[in-house]
Amino acid sequence: MPHQISAADLAALRSELGGPLFERGDDGYQAEIDGFNSLSPMAPDLVVGATSEADVQAAVRFAAAHGLEVVVQATGHGSYRGVDGGLLIRTHRLDSIVVDPSAPTVTIGAGARWMDILPALGEHGLAAVTGSSPSVGAVGLVLGGGVGPLSRTLGWAADRAVAFRVVIGDGSVVVASAESEPELFWALKGGKVGLGVVTELTLDVLALPEIYGGGLFFEQEHIDEVHRAWLDWAKTLPESANTSIAILRLPPEGVPEPLLGRTVAHVRFAYVEEGADAERLGTRGAELLAPMRAVAPVYLDGVGVMPTVECGTIHAEPFGPLPIWERGEFLDEIDADYVERILEQAGGSAESPFATVETRLLGGAIARDTVLPNAIGGRGAAYSLLVIAAVVPGLNDEALPVAGPALFDAVAQYSHDEINYNWAGHPSPAVFARLWPAETAAKLAEVRRRYDPAGTFGFGN
Ligand SMILES: Cc1cc2nc3c(=O)[nH]c(=O)nc-3n(C[C@H](O)[C@H](O)[C@H](O)COP(=O)(O)OP(=O)(O)OC[C@H]3O[C@@H](n4cnc5c(N)ncnc54)[C@H](O)[C@@H]3O)c2cc1C
Repeated sequence: MPHQISAADLAALRSELGGPLFERGDDGYQAEIDGFNSLSPMAPDLVVGATSEADVQAAVRFAAAHGLEVVVQATGHGSYRGVDGGLLIRTHRLDSIVVDPSAPTVTIGAGARWMDILPALGEHGLAAVTGSSPSVGAVGLVLGGGVGPLSRTLGWAADRAVAFRVVIGDGSVVVASAESEPELFWALKGGKVGLGVVTELTLDVLALPEIYGGGLFFEQEHIDEVHRAWLDWAKTLPESANTSIAILRLPPEGVPEPLLGRTVAHVRFAYVEEGADAERLGTRGAELLAPMRAVAPVYLDGVGVMPTVECGTIHAEPFGPLPIWERGEFLDEIDADYVERILEQAGGSAESPFATVETRLLGGAIARDTVLPNAIGGRGAAYSLLVIAAVVPGLNDEALPVAGPALFDAVAQYSHDEINYNWAGHPSPAVFARLWPAETAAKLAEVRRRYDPAGTFGFGN
């Protein structure tokens, strides 16, 4: 504990809080900081388990008064940098979800996850733009922009942000929307860090009860031909179609029986058409996907008309906690040579330590700017690349530090100027410099200075 914080200071903070306060070493401290990535070195001096906006305010004021850096964690899906000292605010108890079907909007607390938000919307035939994994927190995803399995058609999650309630550096609460604090509103849509603690977020949602979506699995011997065919096919798709391809090396437990221990290609697909009925979705979606179904024998076919609330199953990502190594990149146009480079590192006959090597088609509504300006970085990229490994000592922990950089070096020539924050892990200074165009980065720095002049909110630069 920093020496300037006395027992009396802590007692005063504790008396202000509705939720728990933990010091390093307290019973319950470890359980409070555990999140999705069990490899993150988390060692804050203090942890506040916020149960209300007032708790967040008290925590921020205390941190500012004692020179502690504030870090926020909902689920730990983005806790790559780890935490050493400072004050961690856990928001997972702030999990309110209020749907207004007449607007239609959803207003969520800082800790709400897509896996709870989507079913609440589904009851009204509504849907939101989500990320690929339903266990991710909605606020964390939106702050980075948020590209998901329906985004080529529907845009970024942050494009649909209506208003944020935010505790800023002096502990006061502001509402950021198009009408109120517009520059903070602009910054919160993509600026991600150093802007305060969001306690509540309102998102526009849309009537979309069903989509045509899911995944095709192909066995190891077909991975290379499927990946080559995917490249050509993806380039032909209209923006109503969303797709990615992942080479998956699946574990011997914790996945459905037919996939246990297998290496497969997984073609993820979603066809989205607002107002279309199930018949139209099924016909048009199947038509678009037909060339991929014909490339090689499909081992498992999980694509069909589905309630949109189930769109989190398209990528079929694990819920954790897991010891995750992860690195991403945003790419310009890719070609056959890109695919060969990926296959050489991770294809059907490669010795690869990676659980997932995913190339995702971007473009469409992802590339279009919106009426309301925003700070989303990476809009203009054509594809994304995401590589994930579950680190297993004795199996891949020694290979990863070599194989990871080798894969990214092999495709470095395809890198887009910008990389979106949600793909950047814990950005090094070089990567941080690529998160936004220079003008946006400068404006973000100005907004951060205005709302957090003392720099209480760390942002990992
Ligand atoms: C399996 C997996 C799949 C993913 N898929 C996608 C995807 O498809 N699309 C995509 O865009 N991203 C994706 N991501 C990245 C993810 O969106 C980011 O890591 C996001 O930050 C996670 O938010 P979280 O709250 O769940 O995580 P946390 O680790 O709890 O938070 C991450 C960061 O978000 C910020 N943050 C969270 N809550 C608040 C708050 N209330 N106020 C202020 N700042 C806050 C903080 O900077 C915090 O450090 C994925 C990540 C994983 C691990």
